[in-house]
Amino acid sequence: MEKTKRLRAALLSSPGMGHLVPVIELGKRLVADHGFEATVFVLPSRAAHAEAEIIESAMIPKLLNIVDLPPPDLSAAGLGPDATVGTRLVVMMREARPAFRSALAAMEAQPDVLIVDLFGTEHLCIGDELGIPKYVYVTSNAWYLALLIYSPTLDKEVKGEYVDRTELLEIPGCKPVRPEDVVDPMLDRSNQQYREYVRRAGELLMGDGILMNVWEDLQAETLAALRNEEFLGRVVSVPVYTVGPLIRPVRPSGLGTELLEWLDKQPSESVLFVSFGSGGTMSGEQLVELAWGLELSQQRFVWVLRKPTVKSLDGSFFDVGKGGVGDEVSSFLPSGFMERTHNIGFIIPSWAPQMDILNHPSVGGFLSHCGWNSTLESIVNGVPMVAWPLYAEQRLNATLLTEEIGVAVRPKELPSKKIVGREEIEKLVRTIMVEKEGHMIRARVKELKSKAEKALTKGGTSYESLSKMKEDCRMKIHHIKKAH
Ligand code: UDP
Repeated sequence: MEKTKRLRAALLSSPGMGHLVPVIELGKRLVADHGFEATVFVLPSRAAHAEAEIIESAMIPKLLNIVDLPPPDLSAAGLGPDATVGTRLVVMMREARPAFRSALAAMEAQPDVLIVDLFGTEHLCIGDELGIPKYVYVTSNAWYLALLIYSPTLDKEVKGEYVDRTELLEIPGCKPVRPEDVVDPMLDRSNQQYREYVRRAGELLMGDGILMNVWEDLQAETLAALRNEEFLGRVVSVPVYTVGPLIRPVRPSGLGTELLEWLDKQPSESVLFVSFGSGGTMSGEQLVELAWGLELSQQRFVWVLRKPTVKSLDGSFFDVGKGGVGDEVSSFLPSGFMERTHNIGFIIPSWAPQMDILNHPSVGGFLSHCGWNSTLESIVNGVPMVAWPLYAEQRLNATLLTEEIGVAVRPKELPSKKIVGREEIEKLVRTIMVEKEGHMIRARVKELKSKAEKALTKGGTSYESLSKMKEDCRMKIHHIKKAH
């Protein structure tokens, strides 16, 4: 009797496109492929317009229920003006707990399983309150997860700032991490964000399992290390399910007429797409070098252009959609750039239909900030990358993409540390678009593209991993019921 009942999943997404997209896509898979009913709970962010679009597209065909949670009151949360994006996210999620509880209580039927993303680990206790299994969905890669889970150990063993070290950070069974590649929350150990990060690493292991937006053979060794019960000297290991790549679908008319017509006119795989995620910006000086680099490379490009910033990159996350570049484009580009690149370049202010662009046959390269969603979108479309990491875990991702997975080239020094000059940019772009090295990388991405597709189909590793999670989930429900 119980076996045939549809399981009801409640999924909670933290604010931001990079979280909302993979959570919604997971919800859709649970419903379409695994017979769940799913409700996704969403917290508002300032990227409201872009997010509304995502939510709308998730409703056709109507697979999911989407519930908007009210914005949490942060007035008593003690957030200082310098609080980082990461800290704000964690605090927002914490303060949203009462609203989430009420929203769950208002559901027609109580959910059977709770799935939160990495910023929602403080909601796992709600799973305990309801007496249901609870899972954490890590919307990034396995190396990132290994560093996170290992951070409490590093916290005990390493003295001083990680970034000041000269030796690599060793993680059992995994590629060691270069000190400059540590994720943003690990950059300053005196910051609240760091303490929250290490705490979350502990909370993550309190769930009944971890879901990851990767597929098995993308990171086989790291996944094996994570599943090794010795990994942290853990007595009980938490199952790790690989469910990816879960990315936004292509929309039939997503490109709009003008861009579609322009792309249709370009030769196959001849266009470089340049974009830095939902929040990435750069200094005026770097932007000028990038423009020159693109022009000197003589390659076609579509560039999602944002106003330059003089501020630290951290903090721009919530500003998406607030201001386009409008008429000011030429004011921060080299003089005459627009005219000179008129025939080979297409500039889009602020926000672009990224997935639809990457899917167009004329697109043959992606200069990207290496956010994990963007990375997956590039691989799934068979597009090689120029890795330009900016914030969050992107430095780690860039190293993974260039040194392990082999789908990208990158500047010699981190763009967040040193201005990347026009000649180097020209060379990187030409390498990926026209040189022999680029052809090899392109062949590798295409190989991964077909492996990724296979992973998601019935019998593929990601499909089966989610089936296994469902089976384990039923077992847990059975045990919980029996214990009461
Ligand atoms: N995105 C988009 N248009 C843009 C910028 C971003 O559609 O102009 C989408 C992109 O396709 C991806 C998500 O927003 O799905 C960004 O997620 P990612 O993890 O790459 O980076 P983040 O924005 O979280 O740093």
